[in-house]
Amino acid sequence: MNKNLNIGIIGAGIQGISNALFLQKKGFKVTIFDREKPGSPVASYGNAGHFSPYASLSLNRTDILMDVPAMLLSSTGPLALKWNYVPKMLPWFLKFIFNTTKSKMMHTAKNMHQILDLALPAYDELFEEISLENLVENKGILYVWNDKNLKSRELEIRVREELGVKQQLVDKKDIHDLEPNLKKFYHAGVFYPYARHARNPKKILLKLFELFLKKGGKFQNKNILNINFEGESPILVSENESFSCDKIVITCGAFSKKLTDNLDEKIPLDTERGYHVHFKDCDHLLSRPVIFHNRGFGITPMEQGLRVVGTVEFGGLDNPVSKSRINNLINNAKYMLGNLPEHEDEWLGFRPTLPDFLPVMGPSKNYKNVFYCFGHHHLGWTLGPISGKIVSGMIAKENTNLNLDPYSSTRFS
Ligand SMILES: Cc1cc2nc3c(=O)[nH]c(=O)nc-3n(C[C@H](O)[C@H](O)[C@H](O)COP(=O)(O)OP(=O)(O)OC[C@H]3O[C@@H](n4cnc5c(N)ncnc54)[C@H](O)[C@@H]3O)c2cc1C
Repeated sequence: MNKNLNIGIIGAGIQGISNALFLQKKGFKVTIFDREKPGSPVASYGNAGHFSPYASLSLNRTDILMDVPAMLLSSTGPLALKWNYVPKMLPWFLKFIFNTTKSKMMHTAKNMHQILDLALPAYDELFEEISLENLVENKGILYVWNDKNLKSRELEIRVREELGVKQQLVDKKDIHDLEPNLKKFYHAGVFYPYARHARNPKKILLKLFELFLKKGGKFQNKNILNINFEGESPILVSENESFSCDKIVITCGAFSKKLTDNLDEKIPLDTERGYHVHFKDCDHLLSRPVIFHNRGFGITPMEQGLRVVGTVEFGGLDNPVSKSRINNLINNAKYMLGNLPEHEDEWLGFRPTLPDFLPVMGPSKNYKNVFYCFGHHHLGWTLGPISGKIVSGMIAKENTNLNLDPYSSTRFS
């Protein structure tokens, strides 16, 4: 493989920067294109900062499907809809329902586990090259719940056990010992001791981006509107300029669909919208991320304060912020911790999600010099470096010893 090739990457989120760094390790010349500056408030900036290698079981499960009506009716619940978007999202929902059978659920779980299991070592390969300055904490991640109906959680615990995921069931006393400032609303929980969290995802992303520049990487602040071809070589077209590349990788997160549609490949990517707010100077109240499992949100202690993050809202990329979702986060945080000061920073972000809850990684169906790396839904922060390592390996035509077929875009054709 000729390592002198110019590779263009569209998107400077955690996926784009990770792809770029692993391509550089293999000797390729890399340019990243993004319509924003790196560190802008996209998903890779505002997420909950969990490094969650245990989270193989996704939302495509019959038990979750059954709970949807009740979740939609509950004002404290984890799920919401923008009703004007429902007709547009109907085909996605139908594909999602098709993917909730037991065998499809296990297909997703096994193939998420395959990459999640390699996620922390891949991060460490990149972290070795930057100074992390306490931006990553190794204190585990704690899930708690306050309803005693264990049905769906039994399934989760059993599937994770089957996959060999390390987990520790915890009772009220264990939870109090781990997080004494939590109000005692909980019934029980599960603890993942080897999980980590970021104290500031934006700072980590920018440190990785600086490393990319230091290694000779180039950045172009451009909105890529289309991809043309000269022979087999892709040409990236922005408002006023074109850029010729030998190969490209599309890492635009939830915004990737516009470009893949233009490449005549109908990939059913949509978004699960999520929110965060900060409670400044309160991060001392928790030692690690705590997820209130049955309300579908969590709180992470960060440099910005306590970051309260969550909810899944189906509503596309263009609908406005839902104030009720923000209020839901604030009320839930107060339920967990009691009095908190006035919140700051109301943020809306877009998880890129395919209906089978597996990412798309690999070459495009129609163009051999175009690669995809998007659709990592709730786990794109955790999966950045391992995905970059895998896709850069595909571009360099290396054997990864992994079964990569389940991530191919051709599964939708
Ligand atoms: C509320 C919330 C909480 C989350 N919490 C976690 C968590 O705790 N742990 C975890 O692992 N994951 C989490 N995630 C998921 C994770 O944040 C995402 O999966 C991940 O950040 C996606 O990264 P990305 O690089 O694919 O996309 P993005 O971060 O969205 O980056 C895409 C980039 O592409 C650029 N772009 C788009 N279109 C174009 C174009 N046409 N031309 C040029 N540039 C373009 C954008 O400007 C952007 O910079 C969370 C997500 C949300 C919303």
